[in-house]
Amino acid sequence: MNFPATSLTCAGCGGSQVYDPSLGTLSCEFCNTQTEIPLPTQAISAHDYRTTLYTLNDMQKEATATPQKSTQCKKCAASFELPQKDFALRCPYCNTPVMIECIQEITPDAIIPFYINHKDAKERFRIWVGSRWFAPNAFKKYLGESKALIGYYFPYWDYDTQTVTQYRGERGDTYYVSVEKNIIVNGKRQLQTVQEARIAWSYASGTVYAGFDDITVGASHTIKRDRLDAIAPWHTDDLRPFDLKYITGFKAQEYTVELQEGFEIAKDIIAPTIKQKIRADIGGDHQRIHSAQTQYNNIGYKNLLCPVWIASFEWNKKIYQYAINAQTGKIVGERPYSYIKIAFAVIGAMCVVGIIMYFGQGK
Ligand SMILES: [Zn+2]
Ligand SMILES: [Zn+2]
Repeated sequence: MNFPATSLTCAGCGGSQVYDPSLGTLSCEFCNTQTEIPLPTQAISAHDYRTTLYTLNDMQKEATATPQKSTQCKKCAASFELPQKDFALRCPYCNTPVMIECIQEITPDAIIPFYINHKDAKERFRIWVGSRWFAPNAFKKYLGESKALIGYYFPYWDYDTQTVTQYRGERGDTYYVSVEKNIIVNGKRQLQTVQEARIAWSYASGTVYAGFDDITVGASHTIKRDRLDAIAPWHTDDLRPFDLKYITGFKAQEYTVELQEGFEIAKDIIAPTIKQKIRADIGGDHQRIHSAQTQYNNIGYKNLLCPVWIASFEWNKKIYQYAINAQTGKIVGERPYSYIKIAFAVIGAMCVVGIIMYFGQGK
C-alpha cells in the first residue's frame, strides 16, 4: 500500500527541515534557517481506557492483514518500502526526512521532544563506556562512527488509574516472655531467666485506596522491554501535542504492544506500591498477605512518543543493545568486557603481589 510522503521544507531555499533538539526549533539542513515551533496552548488529556477497548473490539471484527507500506520521496522521487511499524525515517537514496501517516488504530496523542542532540548523546555514551577500562577497543572504535547512534521516537503507553484493593492477611505483634534457661557459668550449670521474643498473629483484613498518574510502559519491540522501561522516568509535564515538526529528521515508530497488553504490564509496575499500602494498613511488626483483589477504576491512557538514542554493537557473536533517554540522559545497556584486558590486568596484579612478597621475605 502506497502512502503519500510528508517532508517539511524551508520557506527560503526549499531544503529539508529537521527538528533541532539544542534549539527546540526547525532547522534547515541546507541554509540553517531556524523556524520557531509555536508552544502548545491546550492541555493533553487522557482517554477512557475501557471505552477504547470496546471500540477496538468492534473494529477488530473487520480487521485485515497489515499492508506492506511504501512511499515515494518528494525530493528524489524514489519509491521505497518502510519497515512495518515505522512512520518516519530518511529516504534511503537522498537522505531527505520522510514521514507518512500512522496506520495503527490508536494514533499518537503527544510527544516528548528530543533534548539531547546527536553530538551530546555520543559524548555521554563515550564517557559512560570509557568509565570501564575493560571495554574492548573495538567498542571504542565503533563509537567513533557517526552512524553508531540512531535517534528514534518510541511509542509508550501512559496510564492513570485509581485502585481499590480488598485484602485478607495477618498482623504479627512482637511480645516478650520470660523463660528459664540452663546456662553454664564458670563450668557450673545455672538457671537464669531470659526474655524471649514471640509473635502474636491475628487476622487482618481491609481496603486500601491508591491513585496512579502517568505510569509509562514501552510499547515497542525494537529494543528489549527491560531497556525500554529502564530508561524511564519520563517527565510527562513536558508533553506536546503530536506534531511532525518534532519528528522530522528522526525515526519514529507506532506501537506494537497493544493497549490492553500494556496495561497488564502497568499493573505489575504499580503492584509493589499497593502491597506497601496493604502492609501499612495491617500495621504491627510483621504482616502476611493471603489475598488481595484490586479493582482498577477510572483508567485513562495516552499514546506517547518518547525520544531515545539507540545503539547496538556486535562483539564476540553477541549483540549489545544500548538506549539513551534523550530527555534526561539516562543510559541503559550491558557493557562489554574484554577478557584479554582483564587477563592482563590480573597477571599484572599478581606480578606486583609477587614482587612485594619477594622483597618482603628478603628483609
Ligand atoms: Zn533553507
Ligand atoms: Zn529521496
